[in-house]
Amino acid sequence: MPNQTEIIRTVADLRARVAAWRKAGETVAMVPTMGALHDGHLSLMRLAKTQADHVLASIFVNPAQFGPGEDFERYPRTEAEDVAKLATMGVDAAFVPNVREMYPEGFATKVHIERLGDVLCGAHRPGHFDGMALVVVKLLTAALPDVAIFGEKDYQQLQIIRRFTADLNIPVRIMGGAIEREADGLALSSRNRYLSPEQRRAAVALSVALRAVRDVVKAGGDPAAAAAKAREDVLKAGFDSVDYIEVRDPATLELVTEPGKPARVFGAARLGATRLIDNWPVD
Ligand code: AMP
Repeated sequence: MPNQTEIIRTVADLRARVAAWRKAGETVAMVPTMGALHDGHLSLMRLAKTQADHVLASIFVNPAQFGPGEDFERYPRTEAEDVAKLATMGVDAAFVPNVREMYPEGFATKVHIERLGDVLCGAHRPGHFDGMALVVVKLLTAALPDVAIFGEKDYQQLQIIRRFTADLNIPVRIMGGAIEREADGLALSSRNRYLSPEQRRAAVALSVALRAVRDVVKAGGDPAAAAAKAREDVLKAGFDSVDYIEVRDPATLELVTEPGKPARVFGAARLGATRLIDNWPVD
């Protein structure tokens, strides 16, 4: 018999579903997504299965985390395919609310994370992390899973989520999942489907360049010089612009200016209208 994934549309039904599991003494792992599911998302579902009795996914393209002129309208929405994939993975339930359910008439609350939210993508996408944090606070406090899993693909997001769950006493363990990549090294992303064949060929240069920075820093080289060289390489490979390529502390996200310190390499660059991000650990 094929697995069934129960689709849940309202916060009330979500709470009832989790309450029934809790009553049976069972644990829950949650994996929030915006849908257009790929193998990166599915690797998080697989990890979730090892962490709890039940896996709860969510699919919600969150308008609050898109800025004006960003891709909210054209973001891929593929609910039927997504739910079929979740069923194959043995995901028990998917919370798929509409915008009105998450942001009803009169909604007026904001969440803001200082420092961690100001750098990297925060500096280039004003309001993005506040919008992300708002929806993640809502999802986590609605479901109250034992553990919630987020990908290291969005490493800054993961660190911000760790920060506000601690700050707000949200009783959910936050866990990171490793980045899934294509065979050539391009990090899987729902936005990769925007790329033309030519852009797809160029796209790998971001991951290659960040890895080269990692190698230099690991060997004791100067982080800023390596990052500047990577920026040139990415532009030469066909990217139209680079938002940032930087070496930062993996915990505080402060700039690393000398070798031998804990470090992670972060990059964001644009191919036409498509913005890609990636990161590599130095150790
Ligand atoms: P998104 O649907 O893009 O918001 O992503 C939902 C979750 O999947 C986030 O926690 C992402 O970090 C994670 N994710 C996206 N791409 C990947 C990937 N290539 N490998 C691992 N996790 C990923």
